[in-house]
Amino acid sequence: MIHQLEPITALATAPGIGAIAVIRVSGEGAISLTNKLFRGKDLTQQPSHTAHFGTFRSSADAIIDEVLVTVFQSPKSFTKEDVVEISCHGSEFIIRQILTELTSAGARLAKPGEFTQRAFLNGQFDLVQAEAVADVIAADSAASHRAALSQLRGGFSKQLTELRQQLIDFVALVELELDFGEEDVEFAKRDQLRGLMQTIRGVIQPLIDSFTAGNVIKNGVPTVIVGKPNAGKSTLLNALLNEEKAIVSDIPGTTRDVIEDELFIDGVRFRLIDTAGLRDTTDTIEAIGVARTRQQIDKAALVVYLFDGTTTTPDDLLQAIAELDESGKPYVLVGNKADAVSDATRQTLDGSPYALSAVANVPGNVPTAPRIIWISAKDAQIDALKTVLSARARTDSAMQAGSSVVTNARHLQHLTATDDALAHAIAAIDAGTSADWIAMDLRIALRELGELTGEVTTDDLLASIFGRFCIGK
Ligand code: GDP
Repeated sequence: MIHQLEPITALATAPGIGAIAVIRVSGEGAISLTNKLFRGKDLTQQPSHTAHFGTFRSSADAIIDEVLVTVFQSPKSFTKEDVVEISCHGSEFIIRQILTELTSAGARLAKPGEFTQRAFLNGQFDLVQAEAVADVIAADSAASHRAALSQLRGGFSKQLTELRQQLIDFVALVELELDFGEEDVEFAKRDQLRGLMQTIRGVIQPLIDSFTAGNVIKNGVPTVIVGKPNAGKSTLLNALLNEEKAIVSDIPGTTRDVIEDELFIDGVRFRLIDTAGLRDTTDTIEAIGVARTRQQIDKAALVVYLFDGTTTTPDDLLQAIAELDESGKPYVLVGNKADAVSDATRQTLDGSPYALSAVANVPGNVPTAPRIIWISAKDAQIDALKTVLSARARTDSAMQAGSSVVTNARHLQHLTATDDALAHAIAAIDAGTSADWIAMDLRIALRELGELTGEVTTDDLLASIFGRFCIGK
């Protein structure tokens, strides 16, 4: 069922001056309303998906601009309502005039995210997909783009919607049992119900686990560079930032800010922790054992341990490796000043980690000694390190194309609550608990799953989700 609500309008392109701006009108009567202000063909008589050149005039018949108007008839539009897109010249004055005329003619200025919200309410996509629209637009790395696109195309929400439907059928049966009160009837086959709940948990749990990786995709891999004073940390930082500095702009075409501690390598975003300390050369970081370094490592998902190849001994290196292993964080060992290290020294250092792995003869512990990556930060010879960093981020299975990744805290919350409720329900079945207890957990699971995909919504939920969109989306 398509609902056409009152017509709304907004600038769909980025604010600011551009060659062209697009103003969108959507809702009941959008086409006839625009037609009153347009001189050219009669827009109400044109087929859907056609573009028409003409002039946009004020109600007093003064020409405001030459425009190209595209007509989309319900239900074949983004919102599934009647939609008109007016392409005009990108002057702020013209945009303001056109919006003023449209509102005088009966359209209302759209609220943030209102076009997407209407598309959602008309069944264009589910709630997870609607949220993905915002993420696709905001995507600024290959990995975040991939994750958002997979969600936009249905991702995990389609599968969960289907499973939820099966669960609804079971809940109906369990509730029927309740109607029979004292009588000992069992309409819902417990083993089948249990099997279905296990299946749903099997889908949900990897999604919950993917959140950490999902967050990394969205916000960058928190990475820290540690090492003794004079290892070359600040030199490395500068070399990395000079080559791969993340330039972001929140409003395209306007401000371009340089984020000082982020960089992209092969489309993966890395967020460097505590770079301020590295820039200030008097503020050097001591051994890993020092509390402050420990704290930084705790915050990181990846540790770059940098050492000075000209002064570090195999024993120093073994001690650093032992401390890094103890931290439990993935790390890369980076030997700096390769330009000044003799081949013999380099060979000795390269071999030393293997001595350690031979000692650590723990059963099941594959002796994969960490390999030293040699760089020369001063000469910006750091490609070997960049290759390893991006490879490290990519081997994380959740970041690979195809697998569904949860990047949204709201989704995580509903998934976790569903999983808890199902775990309860399964435990209740195993304990032979009465149907009313099972029904209660099942209802919670249904509500949580429904809120995730948007089958169960409240005005508050919609307002909080779509309110975060920009106007015009
Ligand atoms: P930090 O204390 O770890 O931040 O180290 P710095 O980045 O301040 O570097 C310490 C010293 O090592 C400086 O004199 C750098 O010029 C020098 N240095 C850094 N990288 C290299 C390199 O690749 N080769 C050589 N020969 N010297 C380097």
